[in-house]
Amino acid sequence: MKTPGKVLSAFRRDARFLIATHINPDGDAIGSSVALACALEAIGKKVLVYDRDPVPKIYRFMPGHGKFRTDIRNMLKSDPVLVLLDCNAPDRAGLEGFSFRSSIVIDHHETESDFGDIRWIRKDAAATGLLIHYLIKALGVALTRDMAENLYTAISVDTGTFRYSNTTAGVLTASAELVKAGAEPNVIAESLYETWDYKRFRLFLLSMNTLEKKNGIAITRVTREMFRKTGTKPEDTEQFSNFPRKIDSVKMSAMFRELGGNQWKASLRAKGAVNVAAIAETFGGGGHRNAAGYKTEGDFACVRRALLQAVRKLEGDKKT
Ligand code: 5GP
Ligand code: MN
Repeated sequence: MKTPGKVLSAFRRDARFLIATHINPDGDAIGSSVALACALEAIGKKVLVYDRDPVPKIYRFMPGHGKFRTDIRNMLKSDPVLVLLDCNAPDRAGLEGFSFRSSIVIDHHETESDFGDIRWIRKDAAATGLLIHYLIKALGVALTRDMAENLYTAISVDTGTFRYSNTTAGVLTASAELVKAGAEPNVIAESLYETWDYKRFRLFLLSMNTLEKKNGIAITRVTREMFRKTGTKPEDTEQFSNFPRKIDSVKMSAMFRELGGNQWKASLRAKGAVNVAAIAETFGGGGHRNAAGYKTEGDFACVRRALLQAVRKLEGDKKT
């Protein structure tokens, strides 16, 4: 994949950048941001890295995650160029209401806005980390071990560690280059998948016990009461929504996390032909074909019914 010339010249031209990524950052968001920050620093740029939310505990094995800051107002003082990664609208990064002298967007999400002076959006890319890998090579920066570990983690998270349909020959070739540069697949896989603390596992059990299956849709929830009971936090639910998809008759998993005040965050995961980005978009959210999310309001019975109706409607639309 070729990095567009205007993306390269934008990075070469300016001296100060603010890299920002989506709220509730995942491995792709974090790895892409840190690797790009390291590469830009290697060519003498000043770089700040922002997320509205702190780096979740399960991603703190990633080298350089300490570059992330949450104090946006201080960061704006140097008038940096905004680099929005792994999302394409300022509100996804908690940046609505702030203005920047110019902006670069690098993303791979299905749901798109028209924000950004320079946009590189490849829906066919498995991960933003893959785009950053190509960008770093095009900038002529030598790949360090830290960059490789971040990018390999980014690609792992967004491909389900090379299991999803976005795992192409190009993904495996890029990942092999990252392994040659020092990323250790077994260490990263263990850090991602075998390090839950006991509290988190208890929360997982409570949430899986709410499982309901209807027309191939698995619905689970995580309530504030469960967090309280187990002493856990919302970030501890990362990966939970993937589990009900293991059931052979399930084509879609929907997990509702209670935010309080009758608000819920839905995490959708699909298998096969279901397009969960389209479902999430009907509720003002978005994402990818096989992983998407949205925020919604109402009591649980209400939000559950609304989801089932939306799925039925989209399936009906497809048939007609
Ligand atoms: P998760 O369920 O892990 O929060 O998110 C799954 C995917 O959907 C991620 O790629 C995430 O960026 C995207 N996503 C989650 N919630 C939203 C949302 O409210 N709006 C949009 N546009 N994307 C979302
Ligand atoms: Mn991503």
